[in-house]
Amino acid sequence: MNLDVKPITYNLSEEEEKKEIVRQYRALLRCLKPKLKQGDRELLRLAFEMAADAHKTMRRKSGEPYILHPIAVARIAAEEIGLGVRSTICALLHDTVEDTDLTLEDIEIAFGPEIARIIDGLTKIANVVDTNTTQQAENFKKILLTLTDDPRVILIKLADRLHNMRTLDSMKREKQLKICSETVYVYAPLAHRMGLYAIKTEMEDLAMKYLEPETYKEIARKLSETRRERTRYINEFIRPIKEGLQKAGLKTEVYGRPKSIHSIWNKMKNKGVTFEEVYDLFAIRVILDVAPEKEKEDCWKAYSMITDMYIPSPERLRDWLSNPKSNGYEALHTTVMGPQGKWVEVQIRTKRMNEIAEKGLAAHWKYKEGTADENRFDKWFTQIREALTQDVSSIDFLQDFKTSFLAEEIYVYTPRGDVKMLPVGASALDFAFSVHSAIGSKCIGAKVNHKLVPISHKLRSGDQIEIITSNKQKPTEDWLNFVITTKAKTKIKDALKEQKRKIGEDGKYTLQKKMEDMGASFSRANIDEVTAFYKLASPLDLFYQIAVKNIDLKEMKQDMQLVGDKLVIPKPVKAEPEVKHHEADTHKISNKKDNELIIFGESSDRIVYNLANCCKPIPGDDVFGFVSTGKGLIIHRTNCANAARLMSNFGHRVVKTKWAKNKEISFLTGVKIVGLDDVGVIHKITNLVSGELKINIAALTVEAKEGVFEGNVKLYVHDKEELDELVNKLKKLPGIESVERYDTELV
Ligand code: MN
Repeated sequence: MNLDVKPITYNLSEEEEKKEIVRQYRALLRCLKPKLKQGDRELLRLAFEMAADAHKTMRRKSGEPYILHPIAVARIAAEEIGLGVRSTICALLHDTVEDTDLTLEDIEIAFGPEIARIIDGLTKIANVVDTNTTQQAENFKKILLTLTDDPRVILIKLADRLHNMRTLDSMKREKQLKICSETVYVYAPLAHRMGLYAIKTEMEDLAMKYLEPETYKEIARKLSETRRERTRYINEFIRPIKEGLQKAGLKTEVYGRPKSIHSIWNKMKNKGVTFEEVYDLFAIRVILDVAPEKEKEDCWKAYSMITDMYIPSPERLRDWLSNPKSNGYEALHTTVMGPQGKWVEVQIRTKRMNEIAEKGLAAHWKYKEGTADENRFDKWFTQIREALTQDVSSIDFLQDFKTSFLAEEIYVYTPRGDVKMLPVGASALDFAFSVHSAIGSKCIGAKVNHKLVPISHKLRSGDQIEIITSNKQKPTEDWLNFVITTKAKTKIKDALKEQKRKIGEDGKYTLQKKMEDMGASFSRANIDEVTAFYKLASPLDLFYQIAVKNIDLKEMKQDMQLVGDKLVIPKPVKAEPEVKHHEADTHKISNKKDNELIIFGESSDRIVYNLANCCKPIPGDDVFGFVSTGKGLIIHRTNCANAARLMSNFGHRVVKTKWAKNKEISFLTGVKIVGLDDVGVIHKITNLVSGELKINIAALTVEAKEGVFEGNVKLYVHDKEELDELVNKLKKLPGIESVERYDTELV
């Protein structure tokens, strides 16, 4: 769903600009109209005028007046997320406290404490990207903290991010990459978790457009080429369903569900298949207009009619009517066999469910009363709040958050039939900790559906779990590998710390005696000094290391000086560990990064770089440099599986990089060729590669099965141009089905 804001040319006169601003503001008012109560119009006007005035000297990168951005964000909030007047006011003002002379007090005086609080939340998390800090993970934690205060903050933030994504064209390439990877890494999953599917999809598509421009264009082109054919098929499929439902007296809307470019690409990547193999996976949606008390009944009625017409696949029935997802999603999904033997996914839901699916949280509030499950979100927020109060580093937290809160969840049962919600991938041990931390730490195994399993056993939806405990059991380091929930991780770490502390008691006593023998007092300052002397992180570690006899305190006695009763580390200290030097180097590179372009690939090159093993870039690929600790500059492809994580967690270490023309060095890459197993096919391939194109083959393996062969060729090329030429020529050979470059590590 795109805003119909036409890009305007920015050499408009001041007068024309003003008109455009007012026009956009009126459009915003129109979509709020049904929600306006007395006095709202004036408040909105005030917010608009305050924001317009505050931003009046500012312009966006594209040259347009800045105020058009808050208006657009407000419109997304109102129209696409379904938020109300107060949120719209906040959206209009969202950048004022951060970027202009307006203060929080000004806003509180004009609009009261509720709106001021939301603006405050928005200001605290203000532009994670624009501040150009290293603290994106820390910022993310802040975002979630405000989320638990008032979810409207995050919804407006998502609207803000969506508009920035829609207007990314005028940004510098480097910034586009950063914003995009952060969007796919954090904001799109967050939108998904809030149930905002349309926004999530658009964010992913937009990000892909910049991160993976070629593939994006290619899929878009192929989609438009096949559109007519696909529409015809869907219409043919839908016609009998429409007629049948109408005859049965059900008020429905039935339509084909468009697939996003990003989702097609995902499927191609995950399943390792071509566009042609996924593009005609169809999905349709049946939306029923029914009274609340007949929702479930009518959905199943529609299901039964449709599966009378088309044969359903029994294992593909998903019932989110009886057990909605925790982000509020309710629907009935099934997959049936359509004409020409094609599988078609059918989603059945009511108008109310559809609104929740599209507008997520906001719609959820609207319908909150009367749903059986009204505190599902509240539960989620409580879990987040719990996780946030734990003392973990921001980056760990972000990783944990993604696995434990953003993942889809499974439902499992206690022996008494209570339902527990856990993230996908959770183990029996996670379950034990979710019941109670005392049960978790004594867990020695479990019975899943009455069968004995180890604590690491991965659970599946519908499992019934009985935990077996023993009083002798104690958590160990490796337990951390068995759990994915934040709660379990934190509790295990706490227990390990506690064990360490207990063992450390002995060490503490030993240290006290040794220090007193030397004439030093057993003071906190002295203990800290000794900790620093042994380069340990905390006194707890020091006591522990002494207790397990990794340290015998000889060096302390020999090398530390006694001043009065104080212990002092003698100077000069031991040579700095080597890593430090690397860090210094690293810094030098990263400091230059803002304006400087690193050109590499030339033989005269002075910058040491390495090509990432995970994606094996070659000249001509879209790449970025990552300043690693210790290994210098590492070049990744922008579509590398690791890129998003690197760019969003370590944005400050990302360096813009570009290839220089180079014909001297060649680079190892690989292609996978699939075709019909024909006599002489290998000869044809090698002939083309090394004969005609004079490319060096490093290795060639071929496997043939049932008339189809799959060849893997590793070869040395100079740049992407050369590789593209090779791929195109290979594709033209008779009998060749597909030729693809490896995206992953060469094996
Ligand atoms: Mn903004």
